[in-house]
Amino acid sequence: MIKRVVDSYKNHIIALTLGPAIKLLEAIFDLLIPLFMKAIIDLNQYNSPEDIPNVFSKTLANFIRLFGTLVPTNQSLSDALVGGTIILIMGVVGFGVTMSAQYIAARTATEVGYEIRQALFNKIIHLSKKDREKFGNSRLLTTLSSDTYQIQQGVFFFTRLMIRAPFIILGSLVFSFILDYKIGLAFIILVPTLFIMMFTILRHSSKQYLPIQSALDDISTRSSDDISGARVVRAFNRQNEENDKFEEITKTYESKSIKVHRFNSLLNPLIFALTALITILIVYLCRGVLLNGTDAEKVVISSTLIAEMAYLAQIFFATCQLPPVLLDIVKAGVSRKRVDDILKLEPAIVDGEGVDEEDKEAPIIEFNNVSFSYSDDAEHQALNNLSFKLKSGQTLGIIGGTGSGKSTIINLIERFYDPSSGTINLYGHDLKDYALEDLRNNISLVNQKSSLFKGTIRSNFSMANFMASDEEMIEALKKAEAYEFVSQYDDFLDHEVIEGGKNFSGGQRQRLCIARALVENANILILDDSTSALDLLTDKKIRTHLSSLENVTKIIVSQRVSTIADADIIILLDKGSVMGIGTHEQLLKDSPIYLEIFESQARKG
Ligand code: ADP
Ligand code: MG
Repeated sequence: MIKRVVDSYKNHIIALTLGPAIKLLEAIFDLLIPLFMKAIIDLNQYNSPEDIPNVFSKTLANFIRLFGTLVPTNQSLSDALVGGTIILIMGVVGFGVTMSAQYIAARTATEVGYEIRQALFNKIIHLSKKDREKFGNSRLLTTLSSDTYQIQQGVFFFTRLMIRAPFIILGSLVFSFILDYKIGLAFIILVPTLFIMMFTILRHSSKQYLPIQSALDDISTRSSDDISGARVVRAFNRQNEENDKFEEITKTYESKSIKVHRFNSLLNPLIFALTALITILIVYLCRGVLLNGTDAEKVVISSTLIAEMAYLAQIFFATCQLPPVLLDIVKAGVSRKRVDDILKLEPAIVDGEGVDEEDKEAPIIEFNNVSFSYSDDAEHQALNNLSFKLKSGQTLGIIGGTGSGKSTIINLIERFYDPSSGTINLYGHDLKDYALEDLRNNISLVNQKSSLFKGTIRSNFSMANFMASDEEMIEALKKAEAYEFVSQYDDFLDHEVIEGGKNFSGGQRQRLCIARALVENANILILDDSTSALDLLTDKKIRTHLSSLENVTKIIVSQRVSTIADADIIILLDKGSVMGIGTHEQLLKDSPIYLEIFESQARKG
């Protein structure tokens, strides 16, 4: 776990070393202060440093005297004043040092968070549809927000406390020993017991953390589903059921979290009780000298006792500080793993090497015995052995019921997925040979969902083609039969688009999406069920405009015969299988299913 957190410092070696080094200096000051206190008391008793029995106390007493002579004055300064000043200076320097360490920690943590967020985003945006489905959007979102934040927290505490706290604990142990080996023995009982206790509890709770984080994933999946589908939930009067389901998963999260915290909350009282017991033990060990010793012995043992108590307090605070920090680091480690799982993902769709020369004489799109299934079990095929050739400038119509595999064909042409068997060629080259960017530059897609991005109409169009002029945008709006309603806005092309384009009606959105695809001006235009919300007349008008684009190859997916009747080739699909392929007239003659669909729709029309 800790290694994973340290890995996050890749670009921050200086911070990784400097931060803890500075904290170490502060820790050294913290360890010296009790010794100075003892030296001041001892000096008061013995007057000459040489008489002080303890070597360390003697050295520091000498230092205090030496420090006193540095101040130019006639009077001899009191040892307490000089010693106190030294302690004060150490305090002030320690404060400055702490501030800098805090700054380094906060800064590094924010930078690390930024880097991870950036790397993740860059990865996610390049993931294929298939790869994204592997994780699910909620998982990607929690990782991008909550896991990244957790790592940031981990880095922050690691820089600040990870080195300092153990150093303080071990340092206090060593000094307690030097001051008085008998009391030191009491410390030796304390420290390992504390460590064992702490690690038992932490090991236990770190195991619980992964399930907690996946419970959080569930919450975010559920809430994003329910919020985006709020209207559907209300329309079906499912509020109470959805509420219950949500309550169930939040309860799971709650109980898992409480379990961890209940166990963790044992730790501080245990540390406290143990420290109290050791205090009693130490006083008990000193009782002989305190009661029966000479005056000098009594003073020395008292000063020792004061210093030892200070060390005990330091150990107490450091151990209390450590568990939440360790827990944060454990969590950061788990989160780091979740981040790495995404970053390390080998994309299922690999970029081709690029095609130098396209064969413009070859069919623009050619399917050779293409089959495809979304899952690995071959039983349920979304597309079954499809072959056809489409020449440049022709129109392909695809018709079939929902779930018949229409969008699957489009997904394969866009190379969101690769066929399970068979090949797809574009201008005589396998799709897999194309650089994905070149391939997709060849295609303008209006997909079924017709989603727009937050911004303005103009910004949506510029995204498709940043070179597009206003004239081109207006031309596209006219072809998509969207000019009429857009021109009524005062701000025209700069009219606001809210998230998902929800401020437009379904039909307006579809027309804007078609216009956006036209602005892109690619060789192939794909409309996947993208006139479904339009009335027949508007649908027809758009198709008439489109047929004037002679150089553009069109692929039109629809459930309406009238939308695809003019196409050069029509594919009739049912459950992934081709039920007929040919022109409208041929299909009317050869395919009873096509005839039936045609007649039933004609009756309604
Ligand atoms: P259509 O566009 O004709 O309505 P699709 O091509 O979208 O149908 O779907 C064909 C079949 O593949 C359906 O049975 C559908 O459930 C399945 N399918 C579509 N997309 C996915 C996906 N991302 N993962 C798994 N199955 C899918
Ligand atoms: Mg579809």
